[in-house]
Amino acid sequence: MQNLERMRELIQTIKEADEAYYKYDAPIMADLDYDRLYDELAALERETGTILSSSPTQRVSGEVLESLTAVRHTRPMLSADKCKSVADIHKYLGGHEAVLSWKLDGLTLVLRYENGKLAQAITRGDGLQGEDVTHTVRIMKNVPLVIPCKEPLEVRGEGVISWKEFHALNGTLDEPYAHPRNLAAGSVRKLNAEEVRERGLSFMAFDLISDNLGGSTKWETLRFLAQMGFTTVGYSILAAGASEEAVRQAMDFYQPKEYAYPTDGLIFEFNDLAYGRSLGATGHHENRMTAFKWPDTRYETKFRRLEVATTRTGMISLTAVFDDVVIDGTTVNHAYLHNLDNFTRLALGPGDTISVYKANMIIPQIAENKTKSGGCPLPDVCPCCGSTLVVRQSSGGTRQLYCDNEACPARLVRKFVHFCSKTRMEIKGLDEQTLTTFVQHGWVKNYGDLYELERHKEEILKTPGFGEKSFARLQKAVDERRTCTLNQFIAALGIPEVGRHAGRILNRKFGGSWDAFERAILDQFDFTQLEDFGQVMNDNIYCWYSDEEEAKLWRPALNHITFLKEETTMPEAQNNPFAGKTVVATGKLENYTRDGIQMKLLSLGARPASSVSKKTDYLIVGENAGSKLTKAQTLGVTTLTEQQFLQMLADAGIEA
Ligand SMILES: [Zn+2]
Repeated sequence: MQNLERMRELIQTIKEADEAYYKYDAPIMADLDYDRLYDELAALERETGTILSSSPTQRVSGEVLESLTAVRHTRPMLSADKCKSVADIHKYLGGHEAVLSWKLDGLTLVLRYENGKLAQAITRGDGLQGEDVTHTVRIMKNVPLVIPCKEPLEVRGEGVISWKEFHALNGTLDEPYAHPRNLAAGSVRKLNAEEVRERGLSFMAFDLISDNLGGSTKWETLRFLAQMGFTTVGYSILAAGASEEAVRQAMDFYQPKEYAYPTDGLIFEFNDLAYGRSLGATGHHENRMTAFKWPDTRYETKFRRLEVATTRTGMISLTAVFDDVVIDGTTVNHAYLHNLDNFTRLALGPGDTISVYKANMIIPQIAENKTKSGGCPLPDVCPCCGSTLVVRQSSGGTRQLYCDNEACPARLVRKFVHFCSKTRMEIKGLDEQTLTTFVQHGWVKNYGDLYELERHKEEILKTPGFGEKSFARLQKAVDERRTCTLNQFIAALGIPEVGRHAGRILNRKFGGSWDAFERAILDQFDFTQLEDFGQVMNDNIYCWYSDEEEAKLWRPALNHITFLKEETTMPEAQNNPFAGKTVVATGKLENYTRDGIQMKLLSLGARPASSVSKKTDYLIVGENAGSKLTKAQTLGVTTLTEQQFLQMLADAGIEA
């Protein structure tokens, strides 16, 4: 266990060093020290037989799927029955020893291991059948990809996002998620795994499915999982014969408001697994455990009105506004209604008596409407452009209202916000409020207009909050973005599924040239040839490009922008035979450590990869090369000895 702790520590340290080196170009560690830590980690991985998904010795590339495949569970996943009071739990336990743990609120997952390797990850789904999400689970923060136990086994656990990561990430999204659970579920089920990498998803193990492993008690099972390298859910033991007061005290240790992860209760499970099994199961739940849910304190107030807004995608968001209530020390007066079904169910009308609560003690929700006057009509036109709204069913089965008018100013504002945002074109000072004003006045109708604000200077100066100084500041911010990289611009365009990562790949492919990118589209280039590009992204690019209304928005910007080649700090990155090539190194090399060769390849502008595929350009072969060499030969990939590699560098005038 100490080894596993040390491994987690090393992974964190190496990750920080990598970030400093690659992302900020400001190394915080000497190469020698780096190699030493790296080697220590690799040695520990060999010793423990465990490799975690975030380990730098693995470069798990983000796969892109066309769709998720349905998979049947080996055993039905039932839920736990619920107890509503401490007295109920005390009675349920009947004096038996139990394990008490958090009931995490995320997405339940099953991980299958075969021969000590993660073979498949499946969502809970309806309990009988789930979906294969191996591609995203493989790049979660803490999933063991390799475990020392070689027997087949299944681990159940929860895919979760901490409150901290949730708040940080939500701030960068156009349409924030209501709860970390939705974000976790949405992320795990994404087709493009790469988009999930930075989301900080964790897997918390809570159960083992195996006939003979893990011992005879729940406690031993959790210990076993920890030894295999899993992060287990937080738990404690409740002694046999515990009084009701002792149960209450044990529960008091669990304070959801102080916990890093979202939780919706506690789980009590009999420590003696054989006893638990002897209690059997109903069609719905297993009797070996019970769940306790903290009651939400409800507060009564009066509903006043419905607030309606149009989002970037055209979806209409519905928010209930009510009289102030103080919950947990904060004043609350509005609650997002999520969807049309919820709105219909509540039958709200002005003056209705409603009860509200904070879901998971954080997010305001309406629990029920006691008077249901239904006096609040559903909006039938867009609050922004007046177009008739349409009802659409989401993939999750809920209904939403949409404004289908492509030219709707509200959608336009959202698009501008996206274009100017920090992680896209990053035009400082053009926040949502300012852009709303500019769009409403018609000063900006397309992205090109952003570069011609001078024309409306007099009018802009008359709007509240603007003076000569702030206008000059804005002009400066805009001027700074008359040059940008191709990846920035592509990411800013808001092509569905084509974000920053895809932008970087396109930037690399087309050498930072917009013309080359556009020519490729006109030549019907197949984008699925590119790393991490699936059919959906390919189709989205063509669909976006052929949309004439969209083109009116972005094309004018091209008259104002000069595309920069992305700066490379390494001058040798261009003129050498490995620039832009995918290169794999295998076996023991004489002149490089395993990471040393990766860094060398990066400095050459090559793409180091961990496994050989059809897309591999070169395989550098060291001593004791194994299956990668065989695979390269089968696929006809060019192989190089270390000497040949060094010779090619020398020929290009580059030092080894
Ligand atoms: Zn509209």
